Formats: sequence, structure tokens, C-alpha cells
Amino acid sequence: MAALLVLCPVLALAQTATPGPGIPLAVAETRAARIGDLRYDLRLAVPALVTVPIEGTNTITFDLSAATEPLVIDFATSRDHVTRVTANGRASAFTWIHGHIVVPATALRAGRNTIAIAFRAGDASLNRNADFLYALFVPARAHLAVPVFDQPDLKARWSLTLTAPSHWQMVSNGAEIERKVSASSATVRFADTEPLSTYLFSFVVGDFKVETAARNGRTMRMFHRETDAKKVARNRDAIFDLHARAIEYMERYTNIPYAFGKFDFVAIPAFQFGGMEHAGKILYNASGLLLDESATQNAHLGRASVIAHETAHMWFGDLVTMRWFNDVWMKEVFANFMAAKIVNPSFPEVNHDLRFLLSHYPAAYEVDRTPGANAIRQPLANLNEAGSLYGAIIYQKAPVVMRHLESLIGEEVFRDGLRVYLKNNAFGNATWADLISILDQRTPTDLATWSRVWVETPGRPTITTTLELDGDKITRLAFHQATEHAQQLRIVLGYADKVVPLTATVEGSRVDVPRVIGMAAPLYVLPNGGGWAYGGFKLDPRSRDYLSRSLPDLPDPLTRGAAWVTMWDALLEHEVPATQFVDLAMAALPRETDEQLTGRVLGYLSGAWWRFLPVTERHARVDQLEALLRQGLVTAKTAGQKAQWFGALRNVSATPPTTAWLRRVWEQTETIDGLPLAEADYINLALELAVREIHGWRDVLTTQFGRIENPDRKARFEFVMPALSSDPTERERWFLALADVNNRRREPWVLEGLNYLHHPLRAAASARYVAPSLNLLWEIQKTGDIFFPTRWMNATLSGHTAPEVAATVRNFLATLPGGYPPRLTNIILQTADDLFRVAEAPGGESAGFSAGGGAGPSAQTSGLENITIRAARVIDGRGQVGADQTVTVRGSKIARVGG
Ligand SMILES: [Zn+2]
Repeated sequence: MAALLVLCPVLALAQTATPGPGIPLAVAETRAARIGDLRYDLRLAVPALVTVPIEGTNTITFDLSAATEPLVIDFATSRDHVTRVTANGRASAFTWIHGHIVVPATALRAGRNTIAIAFRAGDASLNRNADFLYALFVPARAHLAVPVFDQPDLKARWSLTLTAPSHWQMVSNGAEIERKVSASSATVRFADTEPLSTYLFSFVVGDFKVETAARNGRTMRMFHRETDAKKVARNRDAIFDLHARAIEYMERYTNIPYAFGKFDFVAIPAFQFGGMEHAGKILYNASGLLLDESATQNAHLGRASVIAHETAHMWFGDLVTMRWFNDVWMKEVFANFMAAKIVNPSFPEVNHDLRFLLSHYPAAYEVDRTPGANAIRQPLANLNEAGSLYGAIIYQKAPVVMRHLESLIGEEVFRDGLRVYLKNNAFGNATWADLISILDQRTPTDLATWSRVWVETPGRPTITTTLELDGDKITRLAFHQATEHAQQLRIVLGYADKVVPLTATVEGSRVDVPRVIGMAAPLYVLPNGGGWAYGGFKLDPRSRDYLSRSLPDLPDPLTRGAAWVTMWDALLEHEVPATQFVDLAMAALPRETDEQLTGRVLGYLSGAWWRFLPVTERHARVDQLEALLRQGLVTAKTAGQKAQWFGALRNVSATPPTTAWLRRVWEQTETIDGLPLAEADYINLALELAVREIHGWRDVLTTQFGRIENPDRKARFEFVMPALSSDPTERERWFLALADVNNRRREPWVLEGLNYLHHPLRAAASARYVAPSLNLLWEIQKTGDIFFPTRWMNATLSGHTAPEVAATVRNFLATLPGGYPPRLTNIILQTADDLFRVAEAPGGESAGFSAGGGAGPSAQTSGLENITIRAARVIDGRGQVGADQTVTVRGSKIARVGG
């Protein structure tokens, strides 16, 4: 039962005659109702030079129910990109409206139609580099490059023909079936695809090497640009094995064979995401596939997970696709859900319940505890906003919710329901309602109510524990909440010599656990101790006191993990002081035996260190912390474990002896026993040394630049370098250049530079860039890829703790222009939440620059128009106080910088 908007004919007609920008829902629904049996015959010529446009034709063939209205074809370039439109064999007039080609009704006919468009391709979604390009069309960016119906429920068979320099590789969804080679170019025809949504169509052209392997009778190919042959050799078999295992598992679980014929994948340097599931041709971020020797266990698990995730999409997303992007979360949650099932047996030494806990709950809470939290399922009026749906709620909360659902109705019932769902909708589209109606028939549970609370409402429950004692006996144990989130609590009662696990189901506002009455008073009660329940857990004071002193004594890793997640919440809620949290983490680390927990605690420690610990307290602990981390580095048993410790040490290092030692490591005059360092490690070291402004920092950067052999990493380093300069004007030039969209195309490069620009050590000097960054956010959303707005804000804000910066963000939120997208407001509220918590803490000493003993900056904002900022003293006291500078911002553009 699809929740389709019912359109009145007048509105539908208006939408097809004068469509708005992007892909409005009404346009998509009208088209989906009119068009059937769609085919694209797409021909593109890719020139050798990146500056020369790509010319092409697309011949679109389809059945049309009636020729009474004009037809909207999406092509968000400009009018002069359209060379010629032919409708049913005749040159056709057309109108150009808001990035659409509108073909008049008179050129159409009921039944079969053929429209051929000759065009110059737009470059925005083609990721063109000097010697390679890749088409990345998710969520609705195909029409930024080629004319199509850019909506997921108009699936088409694609016939692609590419012409490109003959020494380049070409790969697409279909297998290569014909190749004609001339002197300098080759023309390749690819096999017709199965019916595919536009966002799943892609091609890659350029200078790539190819690895081929056969697994289970299937030949797979890996395309890559890695120059380190040993690295490729070390990784290739594992990568092919992981794909083969994932395919095999999915075929067994779904009872449906892999549907897309051949199976290729491409490792792209600095790819925007972990991976993208184009049917028959997955794109990956190269750094996630080709691991260094020192890769942690987490990195290995991460690789296995992303491979399983993308492979699972071949069923969930590619074979059965959401009707509209409001249900994009479904394909993501099932891909993650299946990935966990696929990966776990391959890592028997790993505690998978702990891994699930650590990889989902903390990231989901980072969004769900904030006032900017969004529901898993969100309404979406136009696909040009689809990018802002993605985030931790889809990737981390939804899998928790889905695991709860599986447990609620039973594993087999759940799997059988999914099989029916996939079989009924193969090569088509479906909605969340379609799945819920299949599952609802198989369970007595009221899934509609469950879905309304967990899937369609934002936020998490806050569950408060009440523990009452009479002497040494429990007289009452209860949990209550203000919301209606029904779920099972897997509670742990801890004693000196044992733990007592129990379950209770919270429904409505409270649950009492009468069976514990009369039992001995526990040391602690942890309502999420079994790593299951989802929410913010307010511990009873006795348990909180015990855990904030004795958490490392907990014997079970899963319970320890749940306790850490809860203590982090307690830190954010100011129930546990930052000093106590940091001391607890420092006491726990030498005793921690689980590699996953070591990584998590190191992460929490770094976060608390930079963000929540006052500067004076940092100074008081830095010698001890560095010594502890170096000791951890020495005693860690594997290279992966050592890499965790080394990463943390590099991150927090502050004393001259430690930075001098790090410099010797970077100079390669000193080695670390058992930890081989790769090019990426030396790059990170150089950047961390530079941001600390060690003597000769510029030589470190230029020497490192000279050392880098890989051309992609070299280009990235060159881009990031100015953001590391100790010269504020050099950094400013780098930042201001980001106002030009062309300087933001390589998003991971931009984010790396921003992270260093806003490094906590430079927070005082970089506060001035927060307002201009906020002003750019809307444009970032319009021009960037789906994760960029959130990541842009995270990179901008995560180094800051000062009340002045919090005030800048508050001021921006208070003076938003009319029509500002609510989802962007939410992104700001999500990413500023930690900043608000630390900067606006009642009576607390901020870790920010106002507590640093230096002259704080006077970051004054005067509305949206002009931002006047006096250059500030940098936190370590060695920076200069600069002249007054004015950054003038108009609308979303930085207009001028001057004294
Ligand atoms: Zn995915």
C-alpha cells in the first residue's frame, strides 16, 4: 500500500508544462504513471583532455499511456548543452525550464515513442580528473550529466557505447561486448543492462590497472590506480574472497541468484563514500580496500563490512529499489544488516555483539540525542534534497531498530518475509509500507505502532533507573521513560563475584522488575548492559558512582562497552566531570584486553581531551598521558594494535620530547618496533608536526611533499598544505578559495584541510571562519555530494569549544533567511551539539581559548551581511596578534576580505 500523493489533473498538467528545479515529487509521480518499458541508448565520447567537453547522444525509447501532455526530461546543465532534440523521427521544438527539456505533446504519441537528444554532457557528476573519470549519480545526479528521467522508479535498460583514448580502461554496469579500435581511440559497446534506476547506472574511464580472479565459477575484476605493487599483491586475494563469500551468503539467504551478470569493482582514490553499489560494477574508496600492513583489526573488519554492504545492495537496492528516496534508509539498513551476518563468521576471534554495539550506538546517539535529530523515514518533496537524508540515523540507528524487529518477530519469519518482498518486487520498486504489510501478516505484534514510534519519529528514549535499597537488599528496581518506545531491556546487575543478567520489556512509561526484590544490593545496574536497548540511560547514583571509579573492573567486554557508551552520555550531560572521565579512561587503558574497546576508549579519551578537558587540566596530565600511550605502543602485540596507540599518541602529543621523537620517526632515523609505517602514516605525521608548528615545520611539509610517490596522494597533500601554515594569511587564502565550487570538488581533500585549519590548537585563530562556513552550507548542499554538508560542519566545528563560537552558531540559527532548508538547520543542530554542551555548560570551565590564558578573539558577528573579526592570538602563545580583518559575506558567498 504505497502512500502516493493523489494529484489533481490541473496540478499534474502544471507540473509537466512548467516543472520546478530538481526532481519534484509531483513530476516524478506523473511520469511514473505515464511511462513504461523504458530504454536508454547512450553514446558518449570521452576526450583525452579533461578540459574538452564530452559530447553524446541519448536515444530514449518508451511506452506512453497518452500523448495529451508535454513530457519532462531532466538535464540540469544549460540550454546550450542541448544540440538537437528529435521526437519520433522528426526534429522537435522543446522548451528549457529549470534544468528540464520539455517536449510538447504534439511531438508525442500514445504507445511507443523514441526521443533522441544530442547534447554536451555536464561535468558536475562525472568526477573528471586528468587521467580518469567516474560517473557517480546517486541520489539524482545523472541528469547533471546526461538527459534522463532521473527518478528511482523509472527503471530502464541501458545500452551504453563509450569512445575514449585507446590506452584507457572502460567499465560500466554491462559486460563489454564489442570493441573497435582506431589509431588513438577505442569504441566499446556494453551489453544491455537489466532494468536499472538512474542512480545505479555508472561508468568509469581512464588509466587503471586490472586484477582478475575466479571464485565459485565467477570471474571478477578489480580496477585500481595503486602504484605500490606489493600493496596490491598483499590485498588482492582477500578482496576477491570477501566478495565471493558475500555473494554466496546473499544467494543463500534470499534464495535469489545474483541478478546482474558480470561482477566488477573499481578502487577510486579519495572516493566520496566508502563504496557505491552500481549493479555489476561497485565503486570503492581505494584506501578502504587496499590496506596498509599496519591496518588494525577494525580496518580489516571495516573492509569486510563495506564489501559485504555493497554486495548486499545488489539485492536490497539494485534488484528491489525504493520507489522514492524517502525510503533510501531501507536499502542502507538491509545492506548493513546483511553485512553483519556475512562478515561475522569470517572473524571468529571478534566479539561481534560488542562490535555491533560500538559501531552503531555511539554514532547514532551523536545525532539522536540532539535537537536536530531526524526520523529514520522522512518526507521528501524533491530529489534535490535527497542527499540530506543520509547520515547516522540511516546508517547506524536503523540497523539497531531492524535488529530489534528481527528479534521481535523471529529470525526465520523475518527472513521469509524478506524473501517474499524481494521475489514480489524483483527488478521493480517497493516501499516500507509494502514490507511492513508482508511482515505484519506473519506476526501477532502490532508493527504499525512499532514503526510509527521507531521509524517515523525522531529522537531516542531517555530511560531512568530507580534502584531502592533497604540496607543490603533491593526493595525496588524500575525503569521509566517519557516516550512510548517499546523495547526489551537486557539488564546487567553487577556484583563483586558475579553478574546477573535479566530482561524486562519496557512498554508505555515504566517497567518494574519485581523478581529482584529481596536480592542483595548490586554494585551497579546497567539497563543496557547486554548491549541491546537503545536510548539515553540515566543511571541510579550508586551505579554511576561505582562505574565512574571502577568501570575497568567489569569482567565482560560487552558490558564494559555498554558502560563506556553510557559514561560518555553522562559526560555530555555533565553528570560525570571531564577530569573524572579522562582519569577513568587513563586508568582503564593499560588494563583493557579487548582491541575493539582499546580503540573506542582511545577515541573517547581523545575526544574528551580536546573538547571537554579544561586546558589547565590537560597540562596537568599530558606527561602522564604521553607516557601511558608510549607504554601501550611498546606492549601492544600486533601491528594493528600498535597503530591504534600510535595514532592516539600522534593526536594528543604536546611535550617537546614527544614531538621530537615523532619527528625522528618521521625523519626515519628512529623506527617503532613491530609497527611498519606506510606513506599515509608519514603524511599524517608531517601534518601533525606542522600543526604543532615545530621548528622547521615548513621544511617538514615540503620534504614530505617531495617524498610522496603516489600521484593522487601527492596532489591531495599539495592541496592541504596551505591549511597547515603557521602564517594566518596563508591559511586565510586557502579558506577563502573554498568559496569557489571548483576548489571544493575533491571533498576528502577539503575536509582534511578544514580539520587542520580548525585544529583545537588553532581554534582561537580559526573561530573567524565559522560564520563564513555556515554561510556556505546551503551552497555546499546544492553543489556537493550527499555526505558533504554534515562533514563540512563537523570539520568546521569539531575543534571548537569556546562560548564565542557557540554564540556564532546560535546567532546564525536565529537569523536564518526565509526558505532555509529545515534539514540543513538540523545538520547544524546535530554537528554543533557537543560544542553547545561544552561551551554553554553551567558554571563549567571551558576547554576553549578563553581558558587558555591568551587574549581571546573578539569574534563578533553582525547578522548575515558583514562579519568583522579581529585576528586572534593562537593558543600556544607563539602566534602573533594580527591586524583587524574584515570578512564580508553576502548571501552565501564571501565577497571581500580586507583590513
Ligand atoms: Zn549503502
